[in-house]
Amino acid sequence: MGATRIDGNACGAAVEASLTERIAALSSPPHLAVVIVGDDPASHVYVGAKERACARLGIRSTRIDLAADADFSEVTSTVQGLNSDPDVNGILVQSPLPSGMDEIAITDLIDPVKDVDGFHAQNLGRLVQGDTSGLLPCTPAGIMRMLEGANIELSGKRAVVIGRSRIVGMPISLLLAQKGVDATATIAHSRTQDMAALCREADVIIAAVGRSNMVTADWVKPGATVIDVGVNRVEDDSDKGYHLTGDVHPDVAEVAGALSPVPGGVGPMTIAMLMANTVRATEMQ
Ligand code: NAP
Repeated sequence: MGATRIDGNACGAAVEASLTERIAALSSPPHLAVVIVGDDPASHVYVGAKERACARLGIRSTRIDLAADADFSEVTSTVQGLNSDPDVNGILVQSPLPSGMDEIAITDLIDPVKDVDGFHAQNLGRLVQGDTSGLLPCTPAGIMRMLEGANIELSGKRAVVIGRSRIVGMPISLLLAQKGVDATATIAHSRTQDMAALCREADVIIAAVGRSNMVTADWVKPGATVIDVGVNRVEDDSDKGYHLTGDVHPDVAEVAGALSPVPGGVGPMTIAMLMANTVRATEMQ
């Protein structure tokens, strides 16, 4: 029997629909500023999708393109200018920054109430304190919404998160283990031993690694829920020259109880939660 598909497009559309009334209630539409440094093609695709989501919802968006050789001071002065602009409600600096540029230092320069990515130390710190009322990182917050929307039981369940990044793995582990959600979360990473055995014990697997098809069907307990965060470009002979895969092998659909696809899973939810954070930031200001 095939796994139930956890549809990120449908879930994201529901999140966006829930924002329209809140946007209408504001004195002026929210304004998101996106800073992009350099010409990484994937970053431009992601920023384009964010701009289209803003347009759908009537959120104003401004894109600031900096050259690939922009130095640290140029990026910091851009962020500081946006911090002090009362017309800007949300600031996002698109990752990755050029190699060698300290991404965490740049993130921590963003005014925490405009930090719509939710990566500022103050916003991540609140999450550690158990306060989830502020600006949460978009991908983990989107995953929680998807699990909720699919009615996945989490209380007392075993969750294995593969990956410990500050943008996905670590915050989703905290959200799963928070009081009221009450999953028992295990954080796995590149030094974890016998990953297959660990995953086979899990009721929920969150794969956030960046390795194509790493989680295979024999890692998954029958009926388990699997959320595939990975986005991997695999080269092929198509016109585009590549296709996208997740971190979860397609055969997992034969074993899992519920599975989020790639594409059409976590990706659209991340964008929907960015829109939700932009509205929330505007309401808080
Ligand atoms: P990251 O910062 O590179 O972190 C990857 C994590 O995977 C690290 O913790 C790493 O362990 C772990 N890892 C690497 N190889 C492993 C292995 N063989 N076994 C077990 N763990 C291993 O990546 P990220 O930013 O969290 O992103 C992860 C994936 O999600 C990427 O494919 C990314 O494109 C995708 N993503 C998608 C969205 C979306 O909206 N759909 C959003 C964000 C990210 P160590 O810590 O030990 O190095």
